[in-house]
Amino acid sequence: MIRGQCLCGAVQYQVNQTIELSILCFCQDCRQAQGSMFAWNSPIQKHSFQLLKGAESLKEYFHSSHKARVFCMNCASPIYSYRLDLPDILRLRLGTVTQGDLPAPVELAYTENQPDYLCIVSE
Ligand SMILES: [Zn+2]
Ligand SMILES: [Zn+2]
Repeated sequence: MIRGQCLCGAVQYQVNQTIELSILCFCQDCRQAQGSMFAWNSPIQKHSFQLLKGAESLKEYFHSSHKARVFCMNCASPIYSYRLDLPDILRLRLGTVTQGDLPAPVELAYTENQPDYLCIVSE
């Protein structure tokens, strides 16, 4: 079982499925949203995501009209994103996971933004 929370702990969740695929995304939107070189995401089924606490602390931000980025209003931790045209899938931000096994990233996205000095072993 996977559990996680935002930095301040207002938002806590559990994922009732194993996570098999994790992705590093280097796109400019993810970099700005995370303030980081890349985002570490995993697609999960929406029905297996269970919010334990903090529904009132979650805020959705639409940078593009079809994609919501969902974060904690208090501490700004990104929790997940989802696309309006793929409503059954959430893209969990794996940096918020505090318990459970996570797989090494097997997929890289927007690698044209990946700096040469960052060497990531992939398949
Ligand atoms: Zn928080
Ligand atoms: Zn991205």
